[in-house]
Amino acid sequence: MTTRPIEIVGGGLAGLALGTALSRAGVAVTVFEAGDYPRHRVCGEFITGLTASTVARLGLTPILADALRHREVAWFLRDAHVRIQRLPSPALGLSRFVLDARLAAAFQESGGSLQTHTRVTDPVASAGRIFATGRRRSRSAWLGLKIHARNLALTRDLELHLGQQAYVGLTRVEDGMANICGLFHRHELCSRGSDLLLGYLQAAGLTTVADRIAVADLDADSFCAVAAVGFDRRVPTSDRVQLGDACAMIPPFTGNGMAMAFQSAEAVLDPLLAYARGEATWRTTCLACDRALRRRFRLRLASAAILHPYLLQPGGQRWLSRLSRARLLPLRPLYALLH
Ligand SMILES: Cc1cc2nc3c(=O)[nH]c(=O)nc-3n(C[C@H](O)[C@H](O)[C@H](O)COP(=O)(O)OP(=O)(O)OC[C@H]3O[C@@H](n4cnc5c(N)ncnc54)[C@H](O)[C@@H]3O)c2cc1C
Repeated sequence: MTTRPIEIVGGGLAGLALGTALSRAGVAVTVFEAGDYPRHRVCGEFITGLTASTVARLGLTPILADALRHREVAWFLRDAHVRIQRLPSPALGLSRFVLDARLAAAFQESGGSLQTHTRVTDPVASAGRIFATGRRRSRSAWLGLKIHARNLALTRDLELHLGQQAYVGLTRVEDGMANICGLFHRHELCSRGSDLLLGYLQAAGLTTVADRIAVADLDADSFCAVAAVGFDRRVPTSDRVQLGDACAMIPPFTGNGMAMAFQSAEAVLDPLLAYARGEATWRTTCLACDRALRRRFRLRLASAAILHPYLLQPGGQRWLSRLSRARLLPLRPLYALLH
């Protein structure tokens, strides 16, 4: 029998997964979401490092059952093929359009109250209120762009192309659709939609990829952009519980922000259940959640922060490429550190 309600600000992966798990355990949960579902998000839609135990604990099995299983990554530097990486365990491919809508439906089916089109403008921390609001705004010069395409043939499950201060990933999601998602250093380019993406690819020296995408059947409705993408590896100690990107944003393509969103929900589940049952104060609960999040993510975030600049700078990219061609790049240990 639970006594205390929980309020979650932000209905993304972390907020909805946590909300559903709490609600299924008998807690009264309300999720406030600024947007609605389904909706496209800027995301590579490639989920790595999510273990069966996290999936089971959060009740995600039916939601992810038909996600594609990806096993191989092809790395390219500019337009040159560098290396094939076999993943230690399959990654999942599912669009955020489908995934977020399924999570929202599961939360409501569990008895949770979902308030869409409701932006919480008062960021005050209070007992029982959790923040899963996604990445924090930053002054960063990085821009994320995403679009879906049909009839785009891929050489491997995921193609990762490193360009001049940019990278782009191409991977398959449901219904034969390919996700094209990139992170670019911002310039003044006078285009919009898919032309903007093509312009950024050209400017980054990724001309072969740009040519392939230009002749694909692009879904204009799926285009989305996000500016000022910052990478904040701080796991905060505070008087509040923050999950997913709101807790710490791992740089895309070195890490697995989607899995981290789910894992952060899993990490705080037990302390929050104890709070809801009246067995702990809110202060003790915040400290317990903070400890659990630090334990789970500290090494991963520190490793990603070291590796990420090498993916973006020409010198670092050349060095990675040489090591990789000589088969000296320790992909398995790196993968283990980052997952
Ligand atoms: C370019 C790019 C590519 C990426 N590619 C990948 C990838 O391939 N694989 C991977 O694992 N990760 C990837 N990521 C990271 C991944 O998208 C995030 O880590 C993940 O979405 C975090 O989930 P979240 O639940 O914390 O936040 P989100 O999914 O961002 O959800 C936050 C939610 O909170 C809502 N919200 C915010 N403020 C308020 C408010 N005040 N009131 C109410 N609601 C609010 C928002 O509307 C949103 O729905 C990528 C990120 C970027 C930028």
